[in-house]
Amino acid sequence: MAKIVVAGCGHGGLVAATKLARAGHEVTVYEKAPRQEIGHPQSDAFDYDTFTYADLPVAPYFRRGGNVITFVPPGADNEPLTIPALENESYIVDRKELINYLVELAEEAGVEILFEKEATAPIILGNRVAGIVVDGEKIYCDMVIDACGVSSPIRSQLPDFMGVNRAVEKYDVVHSYRAYFSRTDAPDPRHNYQLYLQEDGTVGFSWLITEIDRTDALICRFYYPEDSEVLDALRIVQEKNPQMGKDMIYGGSRSVIPVCQPLGMLVADGYAAVGDSAFMTIPVKGSGITYSIKAGKMLADCILKDTEGFFDTESLWEYQRRFFKELGFGACHLAIIKNILPYLTTAQVDEIFRLKLVSTEEIQDIMSNTANAIFTPKGLAATREKIRLAGNNTVIKDILSSIAVWIGKFFVIEAAFPTKYDRADIQKWLRRYNNFFVSIKKPE
Ligand SMILES: Cc1cc2nc3c(=O)[nH]c(=O)nc-3n(C[C@H](O)[C@H](O)[C@H](O)COP(=O)(O)OP(=O)(O)OC[C@H]3O[C@@H](n4cnc5c(N)ncnc54)[C@H](O)[C@@H]3O)c2cc1C
Repeated sequence: MAKIVVAGCGHGGLVAATKLARAGHEVTVYEKAPRQEIGHPQSDAFDYDTFTYADLPVAPYFRRGGNVITFVPPGADNEPLTIPALENESYIVDRKELINYLVELAEEAGVEILFEKEATAPIILGNRVAGIVVDGEKIYCDMVIDACGVSSPIRSQLPDFMGVNRAVEKYDVVHSYRAYFSRTDAPDPRHNYQLYLQEDGTVGFSWLITEIDRTDALICRFYYPEDSEVLDALRIVQEKNPQMGKDMIYGGSRSVIPVCQPLGMLVADGYAAVGDSAFMTIPVKGSGITYSIKAGKMLADCILKDTEGFFDTESLWEYQRRFFKELGFGACHLAIIKNILPYLTTAQVDEIFRLKLVSTEEIQDIMSNTANAIFTPKGLAATREKIRLAGNNTVIKDILSSIAVWIGKFFVIEAAFPTKYDRADIQKWLRRYNNFFVSIKKPE
């Protein structure tokens, strides 16, 4: 049986740890936070099929609920766009309950979880990740699972030849501020989940979810907003929503959320990244719970198949193949769509709504974690029609034409994905994948 180390209490890491310990492996998780501080102070949604997929029991306190989201365009003249509830209805869960539930499952399976232990670096021996450094101590093992989240010090210090790490660039992440405020006596709003796009002329968004006894405010920007900017953004949301009280009653934390394509290389000899450490979120939404948990299950399945205990890039490639096939390429499509945001100004977003260049079906498709309505020959034809509808607006026309070109180019990259392990093929594909996403970024 192998000695497996998980860096960080990320969701996917805990799921993989549970499965591997149940199969008899010796698994230790090192988590930098104290036990009572893990998990975000907020409630979030994840897909209904997540735990069934991972073959884990659904906790009785997971609450079913669909999110009916209303997009509120920046200009006063455009009607808000309400997206009907999604078919894959979600669970809504308190994040601290969710992560503690996964911790309990792992501990029941025999995983040792050590809190207040910070992983600071990988240990590299030759071509292999041979362990991690935790609070200055070298911990050697057969396999490292990196579940440290978006700023993982393990991923970011891997040597270049492994091809795993890539710098976090502008527009790859959003900086969030989330807090729950009291509710005033003002009546319920027409829409209880309102998403404000670029409400103050900068690139970013805010939301307000009105619940029975509280309001949930989120401010997101593609750069780190100073406290004064967050306060201004909250004030704007408050002015539009008299039901939002002034007293903060829960949360008030800042975080970084990946909103980009997944890492092109998830594995190295003795190493695999899972969840936010591999940028596994739905790029337009930043949701990563489902991807992380499902990827944790895929990783465990792959490790368990390696009965020889090689745990090298070749045997771990099946994890990468399955992730991209089932989830990763869908995430890439959404990353391409999201990539247009930095190109647009507030006025252009308004114009897109005014010309009805975005339909409720398309947004619903995107919110249900695919871009099938766009990434098909029919979708491409619809994009051409939109180019016509954009009339004399050359900026919007150019952006739509770019999307059509990006979609075409990415189809080729997707088709060239090496399903079987071949080092040279993988390196060639990885270069194409990374270069493509660099090429579509808005120049500074
Ligand atoms: C405001 C906000 C709203 C969100 N809303 C949703 C939503 O509605 N639905 C959804 O699916 N997702 C949502 N997400 C995203 C979601 O939180 C992540 O995608 C999800 O948590 C998966 O990340 P992870 O488990 O891989 O890593 P994380 O949740 O980041 O966990 C990483 C863990 O590793 C620990 N760690 C970090 N560094 C070290 C280190 N050096 N040594 C040891 N331990 C370390 C951390 O303390 C943490 O416990 C939201 C995120 C934010 C911030």
